Amino acid sequence: NPKELQQTVEKLTKEVKIVTRNIGKIDPKNIEEYIANDGYFALAKAFKMKPHEIIEEIKESGLRGRGGAGFPTGLKWEFAFKTQSDQKYIVCNADEGEPGTYKDRLIMEGDPHSVIEAMIIAGYAVGATKGYIYIRGEYYGSVENIKKAIKDAYEYGFLGENILNSNFNFDLSVRLGAGAYICGEETALLESIEGNAGRPRLKPPYPPQSGLFGKPTVINNVETLANVPQIILNGAKWFKQFGTENSPGTKVFCFTGNLNNRGIVELPMGVTVRELLVHAGGVSGDKLKMVQTGGIAGTFIDESKFDIPLDYDSFAKYSVSLGSGVILGVNNNHCVVDIAKNVMEFFRHESCGKCTPCREGTKMVVKILDKMSKLEANKEDLERLVEIANTAKETALCGLGQSFPVPLLSLINNFKEEFLDHIENKNCIANLCKKVERK
Ligand code: NAD
Repeated sequence: NPKELQQTVEKLTKEVKIVTRNIGKIDPKNIEEYIANDGYFALAKAFKMKPHEIIEEIKESGLRGRGGAGFPTGLKWEFAFKTQSDQKYIVCNADEGEPGTYKDRLIMEGDPHSVIEAMIIAGYAVGATKGYIYIRGEYYGSVENIKKAIKDAYEYGFLGENILNSNFNFDLSVRLGAGAYICGEETALLESIEGNAGRPRLKPPYPPQSGLFGKPTVINNVETLANVPQIILNGAKWFKQFGTENSPGTKVFCFTGNLNNRGIVELPMGVTVRELLVHAGGVSGDKLKMVQTGGIAGTFIDESKFDIPLDYDSFAKYSVSLGSGVILGVNNNHCVVDIAKNVMEFFRHESCGKCTPCREGTKMVVKILDKMSKLEANKEDLERLVEIANTAKETALCGLGQSFPVPLLSLINNFKEEFLDHIENKNCIANLCKKVERK
């Protein structure tokens, strides 16, 4: 149908490359190719600006944290700028532990200098002279390319002392994570850099007031930082032409699960799941049953929510997460109880054990879901799942404990009939949950 084809083409060409503009285009190990594509021009421009003017520009752009939570970046920088201290730090959160998320990896592998340039600009803006990039240990390609880029940036005078004759000094080094999901939580990450066990701190104080070694610290995600040089070069007004009013710019989405295409796509904020599915080449397998948006801590939705625009307001307005930008397709060979159990087992394994609602809550929900998967659960078990989830949401110490309830509650709210089918009819539509015969 020509009309449908035209619509599909329009959707496919909506891609806007800001943070992915150099990926696959330049040799990431060649600093001169980055420079030839406007690399480090934003830094030179930033040095002609006053620090507070840079912060104003970032605030004006409306850039928000792309790690998942969407906190205003300019505000974070301003808090650190205003906190007096003999030492401040810039930390890049490159731990990217969210299952299905691999956008930061591809940015670091494909355009490492964009992250480094942004960190130097952030350092100049808030008055920090030292930076750390905390990279997920399994990301060998990212580690290699970032290390090479740092070495070259020192050689070309973009790092070190008196950068571009600005009188500004900035040093940058790499720290590696060791496979713990919790170390992506910013305060656990700081503990890890300090050499302690990766366990979260109570917030407040937030890192811009008291962060690494107790000093004011800006922690930004890789994708957030990769936007910064382009905003400085092109201005806040240019950036705001993309996306929605409250969530300007683009988002890098990652496809995973039962979808035909793998990979990332950068699209304006406000894109719908239905449009994203076109980019994903549709479902692999028989029929699409649901999509999880936002990562493992995100929401499971059915087709009735595929036309909701994804941005930082969509969770509060429609209970649909944007999170780190994962789009996980689930075909109808899967069952909601089995998925819930699988997801909760992940959280049980990754819980650091520091607070009770998360440590005990994740164990308890896995136990109940296991019972349900053996077709032995009753209605009170379902009510108990909701009760535990709501308690953890309200009382857990950090983002991990507060967010394991999100996928669980979204599954129960959006697919309640299927849970009840397991309980009342002892039936699993996908035939995955079976009664265990006991002797
Ligand atoms: P959060 O809302 O507590 O904080 C988000 C950021 O805003 C933090 O940097 C925090 O310090 C800052 N902030 C919040 N309030 C502040 C204030 N009053 N003053 C100064 N700074 C303030 O969220 P979180 O627990 O850090 O992160 C949760 C998010 O992480 C979820 O959205 C999830 O999608 C995402 N996540 C991402 C990954 C990944 O691999 N990218 C992995 C796990 C979770």
